[in-house]
Amino acid sequence: MPEKTHAPLTLTTEEMQQYGYKVVDLIVSHFGDLSSTNIVSLADRKQMDELLQQPIPNKPSSPEKVLQDVVDNVLTNVDFLTHPKFYSFVPSPSNFISAMADAIASGFNIFSGGWSTSPAAAELEIVVINWFLEMFHFPVVEGGGILTSGGSMANLTALTTARRIKCKNEYSKATIYLSDQAHSSNIKAIRVLGFKERQVRIIPTDMEFKMSLNKLKNAIAKDKLEGYTPFCIIASAGTTNTGTVDPLEEIADICAKENLWMHVDGAYGGAAILADKGKTYLKGIERADSLTVDPHKWFFQPYEIGCLLVRNHKWLSKTFSEKPVYLRDIEGNESEINFYDHGIQLTRGFRALKLYMSIKTFGLDQFKEAIQSGISLTENVEDFLRKSSKWEVVSPATLAIINFRCNPIEQNLTEKELDALNQYISKEILNSHSAVLVTTILQDQVVLRMCLINPRTTLDDIKDTLNSCEKFATTFIKNMTHESI
Ligand SMILES: *Cc1c(COP(=O)(O)O)cnc(C)c1O
Repeated sequence: MPEKTHAPLTLTTEEMQQYGYKVVDLIVSHFGDLSSTNIVSLADRKQMDELLQQPIPNKPSSPEKVLQDVVDNVLTNVDFLTHPKFYSFVPSPSNFISAMADAIASGFNIFSGGWSTSPAAAELEIVVINWFLEMFHFPVVEGGGILTSGGSMANLTALTTARRIKCKNEYSKATIYLSDQAHSSNIKAIRVLGFKERQVRIIPTDMEFKMSLNKLKNAIAKDKLEGYTPFCIIASAGTTNTGTVDPLEEIADICAKENLWMHVDGAYGGAAILADKGKTYLKGIERADSLTVDPHKWFFQPYEIGCLLVRNHKWLSKTFSEKPVYLRDIEGNESEINFYDHGIQLTRGFRALKLYMSIKTFGLDQFKEAIQSGISLTENVEDFLRKSSKWEVVSPATLAIINFRCNPIEQNLTEKELDALNQYISKEILNSHSAVLVTTILQDQVVLRMCLINPRTTLDDIKDTLNSCEKFATTFIKNMTHESI
């Protein structure tokens, strides 16, 4: 077939194919041997400026050359959160099918805002939302939800809805409650919504990092006496620090008694509902009014995809519907959901596709197995640490998160020395590029934290990393004694 003359921004069929195969090969090789990739980049701004800053290119370059440049200079300077030794933050183990699904969604540039522009895209979003509603024992008929860019946007969407439904337009005296371990995105959302500091109650946690019920009840009672109107409690189902789940049943009871909105932030831990142990931890989650889950964490999806579920889908349309004239022709009838009416974004990518294709391809059982394996691995790491005289468990294995510190018993180190030792270990591990293991602070102690949701991570990987940690500890202790002599 003779090629047409080139319109701007196009390639020939053959060029597209060659280019596409190269990109696919690149992604396949990435998934093929994740353990051989450089896991972490420590580049600073100056180095990146030198490598990547450039004037706007007015003239074209060869596609292959641009691609090679990205392979050489960009992909070498990013962290790989899919790597089996990426233990920190919340890693994102991802999967190949979803990566390809994203390529399709983006390749066909499917608009997932309104029903009439892409009925099947809207329907698939309804399908995956229904799957989630079922998993979490939310009401499937009245319930609803929306896919967002991530947990932060899901929390913002939830709190906007909570305020609209509970407070209507008068919220100057409304108060909201969350624990000191709640994720920072909740505070950001509260700020975005324009609440004043005097309307926000940070409830202290107990020794196990759970929201203290007694302090929560006291705060609500005091606020009522002072003329405030409590309207919402944010419970964490899997805090990012320790994996701790707030007492959901009791919080649901308080919400029922006080007529408050119960939002559960399960961005990290929600996925554990698929594991037997997780179900026990998450008991009561089905009573939430709204629930954030984050498929780009423990549901193994590539960025970006978050999800908000609500008990009643009408709450979303009551909060977000606006009817501008320029959208009148794509309205459709009532059963046909326009997701732009259920959240903040109008133009939205087709996020449902990757979730749909990966769950359908692998089957939910494999997701269950992957989630269960993370929980079990973390428990095995706890056992391993407890058997060693060098390590101390600070917060036990909870929903695939464990916090611990190096504390060799024979050394009798002070708290200050222990903090410095564990900070040093983390720094040296990063500098060695062998793993990503960073610290957090728990009860004023510097501790090492692992979040082990990657089904490709093995106990041997972890023993290997702990072994390196012990070597760095020995060096640190040796230098320490020298200095103090
Ligand atoms: C990660 C996380 C969030 C934020 O989600 P993003 O997808 O990063 O926006 C919110 N809450 C908790 C508990 C999280 O772990």
